[in-house]
Amino acid sequence: MDCIFCKIVDGSIPANKVFENEEVLAFHDINPAAPVHVVVIPKKHIASLNEAEDDDWAIMGEIQRAARKVAEELDIADTGYRIVNNCGKNGGQEVFHIHYHLLGGARLAPLGV
Ligand code: IMP
Repeated sequence: MDCIFCKIVDGSIPANKVFENEEVLAFHDINPAAPVHVVVIPKKHIASLNEAEDDDWAIMGEIQRAARKVAEELDIADTGYRIVNNCGKNGGQEVFHIHYHLLGGARLAPLGV
């Protein structure tokens, strides 16, 4: 499968990893949109939130747990952070392996168009 995040999971593309367990991987975004910008993904390929199935909801919880842990480790938990999932074209999704952006390290702009 030609999926860049699956290649990061299998090690064929390098990434600056900050968290890994059996189900979840987190790594610094290659093109950061904030002083801290980490991408948190399930190791399992799920194309987007629209494709998540009943068995996948536990993994989504694990992603949030990992994001909070990374926020604590990168010292942005106390000042606050944002977790974002872009779903589909209008949502701004470019990589079709579900992922959550962990953004922090500065006061973030309000959400909007
Ligand atoms: P999306 O727009 O929500 O799909 O976000 C995809 C994100 O993946 C973007 O912020 C990219 O900068 C990031 N990205 C793409 N390729 C890589 C990579 O090889 N390593 C780390 N981040 C990547």
